[in-house]
Amino acid sequence: METGIDAGMDWFAARAALDWQLELGADEVIGEAPVDRFAIEAGAQAARSALVAAPAPGRMAPAPEADPVQDAEAAARGAATLDQLRDAMAAFDHCDLKRGARNLVFCDGVPGARVMIVGEAPGRDEDRQGKPFVGRAGQLLDRMLGAIGLSRAESVYITNVLPWRPPQNRDPKPTEIAMMLPFLRRHIALADPDLLVIVGNISCNALLGRTGITRLRGQWTEAEGRPAIPMFHPAYLLRQPRMKRETWADLLSLSAKLKALP
Ligand code: URA
Repeated sequence: METGIDAGMDWFAARAALDWQLELGADEVIGEAPVDRFAIEAGAQAARSALVAAPAPGRMAPAPEADPVQDAEAAARGAATLDQLRDAMAAFDHCDLKRGARNLVFCDGVPGARVMIVGEAPGRDEDRQGKPFVGRAGQLLDRMLGAIGLSRAESVYITNVLPWRPPQNRDPKPTEIAMMLPFLRRHIALADPDLLVIVGNISCNALLGRTGITRLRGQWTEAEGRPAIPMFHPAYLLRQPRMKRETWADLLSLSAKLKALP
């Protein structure tokens, strides 16, 4: 667009047009010819898109974001034995809990036992020793099992939803549970127990997709294709000893189920 004297204005009109431009903030002469900056930006955008679609030869395309759950599924699927599963979990780097933990807490007890107990996450003692349920709650768990003739030395296999201790024993985050769940599922499949004992709300949520342990406890259900009984967590029983009566009923139910199952 031609402006100013060349556009056929007289001096006064051109001066008024200039003042108007100054008022708008156009107070610097950049070039003689007008520049269509919309056209330039459209061209630059097209070039940027082409670069992303086809990286220059010799340059790597940016790596797509890794999906922790998919990576966990692939790693768990690749484990053919419990030892391989432990190694796969130790090599899994997506879960930040690993960085704050002393040890990977994988299991205790007898692999292949008819009863598999699934707890929540290691506490301080478990983190130190690298074994599940070795602190005060674990000692109570041993006494509970002993009352119906079971023990981790002979007849029970134990693991947790999470293999690393959450800082200050905080509740695990849903993302942490989601990314470790494929390993737990594979753990159950490889250990192949006749039945599962799911202790505490967090474990119920992970394996059953349900919470409300007060309602769930003692009710036989199914998890990972096998009979499962939710129970109060022994740490809760330490705080609420009068709930041991319900747990005693659940233990008797567990014992009866073991006798009834082929
Ligand atoms: N609580 C759990 O749920 N698991 C343990 O291993 C210890 C305490």
